[in-house]
Amino acid sequence: MRSFACGLIVFFVGSAALGQSSGKTVALRCGSLFDGRGDSLRKNVVVVIEGEKIKEISSNAPAGAELVDLSGQTCLPGLIDTHTHVLLQGDITAADYDEQLLKQSPEYRTIVATVNARRVLDYGFTSIRDLETEGAGYADADVKKAINNGVIPGPRMQVATRALDVTGAYPLLGYAPAVTVPHGVQVVDGADSGRQAVREQISHGADWIKVYSDRSYRVREDGVLDDIPTFTLDELRAIVDEAHRERHRVASHAMALYGVHNSVEAGVDSIEHGNYIADEDLKTMAARGIFYVPTIFVGEYVAQGRAATGAPVWVKMIQIHEDTFRRAMKAGVKIAFGTDAGGFDWKVNPAKEFSSMVKFGMTPAQAIRSATSMAAELLGEKDSLGTIEAGKLADIVAVPGDPLNDVTLMEKVDFVMKGGAVDRRP
Ligand SMILES: [Zn+2]
Repeated sequence: MRSFACGLIVFFVGSAALGQSSGKTVALRCGSLFDGRGDSLRKNVVVVIEGEKIKEISSNAPAGAELVDLSGQTCLPGLIDTHTHVLLQGDITAADYDEQLLKQSPEYRTIVATVNARRVLDYGFTSIRDLETEGAGYADADVKKAINNGVIPGPRMQVATRALDVTGAYPLLGYAPAVTVPHGVQVVDGADSGRQAVREQISHGADWIKVYSDRSYRVREDGVLDDIPTFTLDELRAIVDEAHRERHRVASHAMALYGVHNSVEAGVDSIEHGNYIADEDLKTMAARGIFYVPTIFVGEYVAQGRAATGAPVWVKMIQIHEDTFRRAMKAGVKIAFGTDAGGFDWKVNPAKEFSSMVKFGMTPAQAIRSATSMAAELLGEKDSLGTIEAGKLADIVAVPGDPLNDVTLMEKVDFVMKGGAVDRRP
């Protein structure tokens, strides 16, 4: 499956007038370094950067280099959030969501998205995979273009443009039949219509194809989280086949039993949310290298609000999610950091996900690797991102103190460098 990744690389390296590295030599004096490869910190390290790349890891700054003093900080690889929505401003209730699609123009939403892009970079996320615009068309491809062209600051982006779902499965829903309302997805029914949509989206700049594979969740008496699968297996297989044929990958929103099972059977590349995953499917995911992007924090964040509007299942899902997460770790599934930021307010730091992952059983080092080396692998960018080593792009952040002792420090990133250019410093 990794071979499909090579086509993505070209999307990623854009020239950046704004925040562009000047080509000079910069030396970061780091009190500690978490290079993303092992479990431990190295002390008193100098990371030497030339242009947009890391030149070497040393103990001394070379003569003539511009020195940045991070001796009170721990340096880490730039963080990667593999599940965001820059075009969304939190949708705890259906009303929040409808309001954005009905009363905000795509142009207004794009203006707000440019602010979110700046914000997420400031939080320390130097790369994101943005998983669909929720009714704002192909605006994510334009936000990415504006960042790559140096028009606005922001992270490296891979985008999914418009997600796919079947008729009647995704908001806006519940309006009178005669009223035409916008949808948060591109509606497709049938295998051929799925293939056509994949072709259309790729031609308009989609790096990933996103599908919504299930809906309507309920907890069965045996504790299994049940759902209604949206696509037939035939439809899903056609979408995945078409995407892979065009060297693109597929991310599947699948929260429960059948949605996950069908996605795995159809050969998707990542399972998003996965609140419940059967043991058999975890085994297949581990064997085929299908990524699991659990997005834990958002579940806790929206649970109370959704329960208050008559959907108590969201509260029960939290415990089920923890059990699944622990079983996935045991099964050796690749777990990549993703938050669903935009599903909650962008003023909330998505780095809260680190604490959620640790609460569910990861060590801080594992959680940080899920957002660095593992996430880089999901993006198909492990040769250029995800660790701090010579030859890689100089995407580096720093936090005050030791995040392996206190993972909440990941919410206090105070130095951000993207491609050798400093975005913020202590
Ligand atoms: Zn999402």
